[in-house]
Amino acid sequence: MTDFTDKNILVMGGSRGIGAAIVERFAKDGGDVAFTYASSPEPANLLASKTGSTALQSDSAQRDQVVQIVQQRGKLDCIIVNAGVLEMGDPLDLDPDAIDHMIDINIRAPYHAFVEAARNMNDNGRMIVIGSCNAERMPFAGGAAYAMTKSAMQGMVRGLARDFGDRGITANAIQPGPVDTEMNPADGPMKDMMHGFMAIKRHARVDEVAGMAAYLASEEAAIVTGACHTIDGGFNA
Ligand code: NDP
Repeated sequence: MTDFTDKNILVMGGSRGIGAAIVERFAKDGGDVAFTYASSPEPANLLASKTGSTALQSDSAQRDQVVQIVQQRGKLDCIIVNAGVLEMGDPLDLDPDAIDHMIDINIRAPYHAFVEAARNMNDNGRMIVIGSCNAERMPFAGGAAYAMTKSAMQGMVRGLARDFGDRGITANAIQPGPVDTEMNPADGPMKDMMHGFMAIKRHARVDEVAGMAAYLASEEAAIVTGACHTIDGGFNA
């Protein structure tokens, strides 16, 4: 169990999938949780009423909205950037605008969110981004741009750890392997290929990733910073 009583927590991209599991876990453990969503008001409002958290519409592709929502939440104890999109396919065919949109959400948004949060963050605060095991291993074709966005998170958390360590603020990336969500359903067409890379041949459950986030946000993890935590059933082993 972790205890987030009286902690001001913001989850960017919390309406569905891994983000929703993080909202549930942190709210269950007593946190004052707000989360953003872009285009899914129904699951967002349902989750908010189920967990007592606050749903805020904000598009992570828009820097102004990212900065504004962080400012709106005041002095944060923990910010978790989960919002991410996946564009896969032959780089010669992929729409360059879709790739730039992914870069906006997967790279620019976490950077600007964390820097803005740091301006006003309580000492011993927590910055956590959901990266991917593909930051370190991209074992099939079509994932170059996605892997690039997730590798960028590695350099970012290392740097942020140095920037804000004197305030006890930690910065970490969680690097999941396949996780059962709408982005990557456990019964999807790529499951056998992905499980072939794994030591434990199944998709992770969203609550398993939320558990890693809760540990990194806990007091127990006060010395864990500038690190990338792979949770992938051995995909990268
Ligand atoms: P889902 O597609 O199931 O959910 C994505 C979440 O991000 C939704 O809450 C969505 O909000 C939000 N989001 C997307 N775009 C925006 C945006 N522009 N502004 C605000 N919120 C946005 O994805 P997952 O839960 O599977 O993935 C979550 C994170 O985990 C991503 O960063 C992904 O790259 C990473 N990841 C996932 C893996 C997997 O196998 N599932 C493996 C490794 C990493 P809305 O509902 O409003 O669209």
